[in-house]
Amino acid sequence: LGRRINAAMADLTRSNVVDEKVLDSMLKEICMALLESDVNVKLVSTLRANIKKKINLKDQAPGVNRRRLVQKTVFDELCALVDCQSEDGDSASAFKPKKGRSSVIMFVGLQGAGKTTSCTKLALWYQRRGFKVGLVCADTFRAGAFDQLKQNATKAKVPYYGSYTETDPVAVAAAGVARFKSEKFDIIIVDTSGRHRQEEELFAEMVQISKAVKPDQTIMVLDATIGQAAESQSKAFKESSDFGAIILTKMDGHAKGGGAISAVAATRTPIVFIGTGEHIHDLEPFTPTQFISKLLGMGDIKGLVDHVKHMNLDQKETMKHIEQGIFTIRDLRDQMSNIMKMGPLSKMAGMIPGMSQLMGEVGEEESGKRLKRMMYIMDSMTEKELDSDGKIFVSEPTRMTRVAKGSGTSVREVEEVLSQQRTMARMVKQVGGKKPRPKMKRLRA
Ligand code: GDP
Ligand code: MG
Repeated sequence: LGRRINAAMADLTRSNVVDEKVLDSMLKEICMALLESDVNVKLVSTLRANIKKKINLKDQAPGVNRRRLVQKTVFDELCALVDCQSEDGDSASAFKPKKGRSSVIMFVGLQGAGKTTSCTKLALWYQRRGFKVGLVCADTFRAGAFDQLKQNATKAKVPYYGSYTETDPVAVAAAGVARFKSEKFDIIIVDTSGRHRQEEELFAEMVQISKAVKPDQTIMVLDATIGQAAESQSKAFKESSDFGAIILTKMDGHAKGGGAISAVAATRTPIVFIGTGEHIHDLEPFTPTQFISKLLGMGDIKGLVDHVKHMNLDQKETMKHIEQGIFTIRDLRDQMSNIMKMGPLSKMAGMIPGMSQLMGEVGEEESGKRLKRMMYIMDSMTEKELDSDGKIFVSEPTRMTRVAKGSGTSVREVEEVLSQQRTMARMVKQVGGKKPRPKMKRLRA
């Protein structure tokens, strides 16, 4: 999806005049791409109409940057699709657990969606913010479910409750919640089962557990990789257990979560967190702008900056540069070498503007090789070249030949590195010197 939309955007950037025809063909491309990524047909046509309405080319005063205007409108409309906060001040954002009062959070979702994993992540999230959190395993259906939760909870040092002998999930849920309430826990998270012989059975069970534990918030866990199924699945759960929030899992890797847009629209329920890995710390607050940036393959400077800060790496120079709106080849090299130390490439690649296209769908191993070659190229540059903005290569092209020879690569690959650096520099210039976006407040302690 990102690639197609990017192509459409690139067409737009290349053409000098933005007229009705260019706009129409671009919108058509974007709509096709959205449809292919499993976004509901009705939604797509609404989006298209909204954009057309907002961009009245004839009315624009001369001097207005039309290209910018179109890009921004597309971006904003897509953000509005996933940001259902504006529709009504809904329950999810209103939910704020309080210390000294027991709140119950119930998880629902199909087997394999990532409930047990996300439960633990959320428990840890709250625990780190000073809440006393307990986990209850009400999945008595799957063998080993309690052991899995126990293992996760132990790793996160979160107290847990479950039973090896009780087979009634409602009874376990009620007992666990009662126990933690009597011990004055602030937040009690109830994990449930996902698989049944028949779905009606599962939904009936959710209703019963819900009646027994009276959740202050119900969260549906949705797998970002399921595509088209996201809409019907979330609708079905909405009917049986009126959840007020969604956690979208498996947003690491290649899933861009296009299907989740339909789920949000169909249930009018916001995504509050995204799961970005199997580790207990891989949980991030959902922000529409970051989500859409990733969907469009525009990269996510802020996410990257946060991540780098979080990893506590020695990034002082680069950070200073980014704040000033500068991005040299050396900055690119430092970023990349850190990224290679950080772990899953697929996860990081999506955060670097332009990098996801560069890596394409070649897989982890091939991406790794390409990254390494890019590093060889930069390692063959002189100090002066590294500290430059790359223009030095344009004015003296023989430098490229020298670097290619020195690194055992080709001039084309050197050009790719330079183009990557230019993309970053452009993005950095846009965000440089500006204050970071206000953090989202939903579900925050
Ligand atoms: P449940 O059946 O809904 O409880 O799902 P689990 O929590 O057991 O997760 C199913 C699988 O998905 C496990 O292998 C998890 O490690 C994996 N998983 C869950 N969340 C994520 C995520 O955000 N990213 C990745 N890559 N894997 C995840
Ligand atoms: Mg589970």
